Amino acid sequence: MKEIFIKIAPEEAFLKLQAPIGLDIGVETPGDIAISIAAEIIAAKKGKLEGFKKGEWEDKMLLQNYTLRIVLAECNPSSEKVNALVELSEDISEVFPYLNTVLKGFQYSDKEKILTVKRKGHLITFRPRQIAITKLEDDKEAREVMEELKQIVNETYVNRGQIKPSYTSIPIPRPTDIYKLLPGTNCKKCGVPTCFAFAFKLTTNELDWKQCPLLLTEEFEANRLKLSEILHDGEG
Ligand code: SF4
Repeated sequence: MKEIFIKIAPEEAFLKLQAPIGLDIGVETPGDIAISIAAEIIAAKKGKLEGFKKGEWEDKMLLQNYTLRIVLAECNPSSEKVNALVELSEDISEVFPYLNTVLKGFQYSDKEKILTVKRKGHLITFRPRQIAITKLEDDKEAREVMEELKQIVNETYVNRGQIKPSYTSIPIPRPTDIYKLLPGTNCKKCGVPTCFAFAFKLTTNELDWKQCPLLLTEEFEANRLKLSEILHDGEG
């Protein structure tokens, strides 16, 4: 490599070369590798590289490894969606109050050490050594979601000094408040007999508001945004 390098640059520049390049943040795809390289360049320019040298990031990670298995949805075995159960190599409960802030936790019990969040259409339940993820297409999506969660857990843990912990759950919305935002036609296209039954199942997370086709139309855009807000699902 040195022989190739000195053909295009002064030899003393070789001594300043850093390789391999890119922060070691567990990337796999070409896009992620490009991001890790750009992140290292920015960190070097800002003088912040010290804490992110190879191996040091891994030392700071709370969650190192996990094993993932796909399970059928217990409440609806005929559903095309699957769930994932992920066993963790470490107890990550220390980060829960900070994750509750970062992910706008849906339900949190500090005593029981259980945190539930809604994210991108999935219900995600964190326990000290386990994460459960619902409504997945397949094993591939489960692994992509889990890699993203691992990244979030570790970044939150590293940055916890700057995050205000939260120990409370958000209020559960009332079916009547949700019902007011539904089309009210009782057309049954969502699979339940009435809009009110649909509203009730949204509060218990048995159904997703996207299962009402009318809500996806332009006419109901404002209702959709409001629903997403009160259901804390980060969509709409
Ligand atoms: S599909 Fe929408 S409008 Fe029709 S019953 Fe279900 S919630 Fe009501």
